Amino acid sequence: MKKIKIYCMICMVALSAAVCLGAPIASAQKPPQTQPSSHGFFVVLLGTGMPRPDPTRQGPSLAIVANGKAYIVDAGTGVVRQAAAAYARGIPALQANRLDIAFLTHLHSDHTLGLPDLILTPWVMHRTVPLQLYGPVGTQAMVDNIESAYAEDIDLRIHGLEHNSATGHKVVVHEIQPGVIYQDENVKVTAFAVKHGSWKEALGYRFDSNGKSIVLSGDTRPTESVIEACNGCDVLVHEVYSGTSRDAADVAYFASFHTSATQLGEIAAKAKPKLLVISHYVPLSNTNQTQMVQKIHKKYAGPVVVANDLDVIAP
Ligand SMILES: [Zn+2]
Ligand SMILES: [Zn+2]
Repeated sequence: MKKIKIYCMICMVALSAAVCLGAPIASAQKPPQTQPSSHGFFVVLLGTGMPRPDPTRQGPSLAIVANGKAYIVDAGTGVVRQAAAAYARGIPALQANRLDIAFLTHLHSDHTLGLPDLILTPWVMHRTVPLQLYGPVGTQAMVDNIESAYAEDIDLRIHGLEHNSATGHKVVVHEIQPGVIYQDENVKVTAFAVKHGSWKEALGYRFDSNGKSIVLSGDTRPTESVIEACNGCDVLVHEVYSGTSRDAADVAYFASFHTSATQLGEIAAKAKPKLLVISHYVPLSNTNQTQMVQKIHKKYAGPVVVANDLDVIAP
């Protein structure tokens, strides 16, 4: 079996399925020779945070890169700047003006606060084609509202002295249902329904490329569809929370909307990913990362990585 490669974009070292302990992202360094660049299939964790404004983690978003093309999933805060950071470190697919296809798991604000950024900044940086945007029902309405909010900016940039393209700010929205929702020469993308509290529709995605698979849970409580979608996949990126709260409302919220570390261990034991990657980790008051991973390992014996922003993982 080919070994899964994990790279810390901050430490610039290949990891052996461990926690990447990085310095602040401002310390741009020359990429190592072994880093995945324009070819292959890998995931770049652009933002691994959650709603809390942790200054060391941007909002949830990642890029799947296949054969030199980037497919963005979710648009948390900082999405385009994080892509620019990855571009600066040697991933050409993440150049701002090349970001033209994205997938939303659901419409919670932490996953969409960067959507105006993803629509407008690549265009300001001379993207001339519309953004192709796949997401649940409600995506079109959100995009319509963003376009309306920025109508004067768009008009000024097209008709003023900037002479921006009249097409690159546009968005072609595809409101999707579970199933194979996208395919090109690089990837096949399959959406599956997950259970995220009272959201009518929330999605996970499976990306297949050249016989390798990367599965993204999105935000979800323990859901059988994640197990089915992974089913021995190469990489499963899953959300998690750990610890407990004294607030009964908090306990009820997390049980309905998210997956505890113990539950994730059970999910991973059934899904059997070759590597489990934690992103969107919510620590409640009385816990830490080590305890969270220990809880996962009670049921799941495979490797676990707690991702940091700008980590790169290649199946
Ligand atoms: Zn979230
Ligand atoms: Zn959510």
